[in-house]
Amino acid sequence: AAFTVGLTGGIGSGKTTVANMFAARGAAVIDTDQIAHQLTKPGGIAIPAIAAQFGQDYIASTGALDRARMRETVFADPAAKQRLEAILHPLIRSECEREALAAQGPYTMLVVPLLVESGDWKKRVARVLVVDCPEEQQIVRVMDRNGLSEAQVRAIMANQATRQQRLAAADDVILNDGDAAALEPQVERLHTLYSALAQAIS
Ligand code: ATP
Repeated sequence: AAFTVGLTGGIGSGKTTVANMFAARGAAVIDTDQIAHQLTKPGGIAIPAIAAQFGQDYIASTGALDRARMRETVFADPAAKQRLEAILHPLIRSECEREALAAQGPYTMLVVPLLVESGDWKKRVARVLVVDCPEEQQIVRVMDRNGLSEAQVRAIMANQATRQQRLAAADDVILNDGDAAALEPQVERLHTLYSALAQAIS
């Protein structure tokens, strides 16, 4: 489908939860986090370049990227972060385009955690959908899910766009401040809108 919606939101805002609801309605969902994971699993195509750039110490005995070690390194060293991104981003982008070409469904939805922060991804999508959530709730969800401290979650959030920046970039917003059931009517309304917009350009 040529019509592409970019879905984004802060860490733990509910992007995956919401994307699954669009997928259940037939949208072709492409998740850039999942692609990054595939690229860095045992035998993943990013592994040789990462080993060459960072050293074999960053590859676990399974052959996968040692995520914990890499996370520590890039958190402390912006230049290392850039080097990792220079390896991963072109691979993520090309895999994304490959999946988009093969995608069935009325429209395509790209899930991109840092879409608002990245000019390239913003240009790639026709519309930006933000999953919005109060920061306090984001913190509780990520502490629960990842077993992190409040300070650790806040440190991650400090490296992402603020809630206000994200909302300013949004064409559409899904508010995820309640239970999952409260998401359904919001997803339904936007699925209808995106199907109609896709139809109009086809
Ligand atoms: P990340 O950026 O960390 O990958 P995400 O934005 O994809 O996160 P999810 O994985 O969908 O967010 O949600 C984060 C956590 O919060 C999950 O454990 C999820 O089950 C839970 N969660 C999300 N939305 C709700 C909700 N409305 N009610 C209860 N739990 C929720």
